[in-house]
Amino acid sequence: MDIFDAIESEVRFYCRSWDVVFERAAGSTLYSEDGREYLDFFSGAGALNYGHNNPVLLRPLVEYLLSGSIVHSLDMKTVAKRRFLETFQELILKPRDLNYKVMFPGPTGTNSVEAALKLARKTTGRHTVVSFTNAFHGMTLGALAVTGNSMKRQGAGIPLTNTVSVPYDGFLDGEASDFLWLQRALEDTGSGLDKPAAVIVETVQGEGGLRAARESWLRRLSEICHEHGILLIVDDVQAGCGRTGTFFSFEAAGIVPDIVCLSKSISGFGLPLALVLFKPELDIWKPGEHNGTFRGHNPAFVTGTAALENFWQDRNLELKVAGLGAQLHEGLTQIASATEGARVRGRGLLAGIFYPDPSAAGKIAAESFSRGLLVETSGPNGEVVKTMPALTISAEDMRKGLEILAGAAAAVIGEPVVWRSVA
Ligand SMILES: *Cc1c(COP(=O)(O)O)cnc(C)c1O
Repeated sequence: MDIFDAIESEVRFYCRSWDVVFERAAGSTLYSEDGREYLDFFSGAGALNYGHNNPVLLRPLVEYLLSGSIVHSLDMKTVAKRRFLETFQELILKPRDLNYKVMFPGPTGTNSVEAALKLARKTTGRHTVVSFTNAFHGMTLGALAVTGNSMKRQGAGIPLTNTVSVPYDGFLDGEASDFLWLQRALEDTGSGLDKPAAVIVETVQGEGGLRAARESWLRRLSEICHEHGILLIVDDVQAGCGRTGTFFSFEAAGIVPDIVCLSKSISGFGLPLALVLFKPELDIWKPGEHNGTFRGHNPAFVTGTAALENFWQDRNLELKVAGLGAQLHEGLTQIASATEGARVRGRGLLAGIFYPDPSAAGKIAAESFSRGLLVETSGPNGEVVKTMPALTISAEDMRKGLEILAGAAAAVIGEPVVWRSVA
């Protein structure tokens, strides 16, 4: 029995599917201590959009740490924080004509969601928050209350209240008009729906099965919120930072959420950092009303600034992701077409294959691992093979990964995958 099995809690998860000890990483490749190589189509669940140890982030981080600069500072003013805020404003907010205040909650995605929910309730004086089927927003109680997965909800141990779950785009398979119930319930004072403070939504359901909301669906949702004075929160923790092709995942839909949650890849390097963005008129916090020891970690500001400067000065990364996304979807489509009822889901570099047999995806992910590829599953029953390569992956590594996945899928389903090269 190794030390992990001996003393680490049973709650550990990823290490069970990928049961090796990882030692080093570079770009899209991980190396285990026994020297095996793994191609990474997982990217730290979206925290490593620019790959592992990207030198353009590593170098400024090492220089910063060796220079005697501030590491921990609560929310004090620091040079590193000033540079991050200036760069975020110049390269992200201004070019997109977005006028948001920036809040640093604790460093995780769920911290960002908690702060967003708290602020929405505080500014509206209402308590109900509308969330969607198969949503995932994090593990703390407020975020769990807007999360769909029943196993994760049960972990709370107490009732999860003051929320209501409604169908996400595609949940009803087009059998009913998507917003019929929500619209009627909001208009009819007898509906039993307390007027919500906010609606919280992911544009692509990263954990809940990779359903992607249509742009028209997001626009309609935004209109309904606007018509009824309900705040729209987009949880861009996983789909943001370029994952779907644009910095924010909602840009293509042309909507402007009232509140946006960012974390995972905002530091760029895999260091913990989270942001909540909100319209200035919502900024009614009292100083210190939502506090925390690790709000804005300076090393994460350094790598976050370097990520913005290196990847978001121009449209090159967006164009690269568009090309890689087309390559990925082409490969996934070929793999899916070998199985009756299998479907490609997702958007950009957050995409995968839904299998009608719920055990297929898990077996394909396991087989992929034994062939040297890290892919995860997604969905309430793990029924979707999920691929999330780095945005900086080479077309060659993308092709290699897809070929491994195609081989693994063929081995599991017992059908050959007709494979045309996707280079
Ligand atoms: C990962 C994730 C979270 C939670 O982030 P943590 O850092 O794990 O707390 C919240 N929302 C979405 C959409 C996520 O993908």
